[in-house]
Amino acid sequence: MLNFLATMLVLVALALLAASLWTTGKLLAQLPAGPLRVQWRVLTALVVVFFAGYLAYLIAFWERHQDVADLLVPALFMGCACFVWLGTRSSLATVLNVRHLSSLDRAQVTDALTGLRSRHYLDALMQQEMRRVERHGLAVSVLLLDIDHFAAVNENYGHTVGDQVLTQIGRILSASLRGSDLLVRYGGEEIAILATHTAPTAAVAVAERLRREIEVGARKALREAQGARQAITVSIGVAGRAAGAQGSDDLFARAEQALQTAKNEGRNRVALSGS
Ligand code: GH3
Ligand code: MG
Ligand code: MG
Repeated sequence: MLNFLATMLVLVALALLAASLWTTGKLLAQLPAGPLRVQWRVLTALVVVFFAGYLAYLIAFWERHQDVADLLVPALFMGCACFVWLGTRSSLATVLNVRHLSSLDRAQVTDALTGLRSRHYLDALMQQEMRRVERHGLAVSVLLLDIDHFAAVNENYGHTVGDQVLTQIGRILSASLRGSDLLVRYGGEEIAILATHTAPTAAVAVAERLRREIEVGARKALREAQGARQAITVSIGVAGRAAGAQGSDDLFARAEQALQTAKNEGRNRVALSGS
């Protein structure tokens, strides 16, 4: 009876170790190359050593358990195997959970089509960013860019080409702006840029440069993709505050008004709020 119990304990322990090895295999597949992966390889090798040790014990002490105290070692084996099994299982679950959460985070902060920051991200960041700007008396400007007659691009070439044009404009802006400027997909075909350390007059110069780069670059992309000669232009509304200016007005509302002015004045131009 004692021998049967001891054998069962060690066999279950061996099964748990085998299950742990399967789990560490899955875990290793999730981890990128690096020190953490090396650590898990070492742990996996240790589990293999345990497995071999348990097996050797089973053979060496076969039918040699005479006393209840002789069950101590098999019981300890079983306890250790349980610990290893639970540890590896929860580690794998943690890795999968963290991976899932970080992909959700990324989806929330990044616009899927253009790869720019999402409107959700801007809303979450804006209050805190404006407090920082006011505390340090920094210059700040908002540029609001809208593609001119974009509905016609969709109508003429299809929505997929429209998406490509939008993405291309996002690329042109990303390449042209400073890393500290925040680029956001603001609405359907509207892109906002929050530029700290940039006074309104400097922002107008930046907007004018961007407008020209898009006029050349987006048209070229459309021609290469579709052989089409249609012009792709943007209108940009700018609103901003010089360094040290007081008050906390809504720069986005003012930029929207300026954008409307640029549209009304004929499109393919930059308009500054309050001028
Ligand atoms: P305006 O110069 O006055 O801005 O004219 P518009 O045609 O650009 O403006 P309107 O607001 O009439 O149309 C915007 C168009 O942008 C309609 C909509 O289908 C298109 N649009 C918005 N988001 C996307 C998108 O993600 N992909 C594509 N392909 N089109 C989009
Ligand atoms: Mg629009
Ligand atoms: Mg438009």
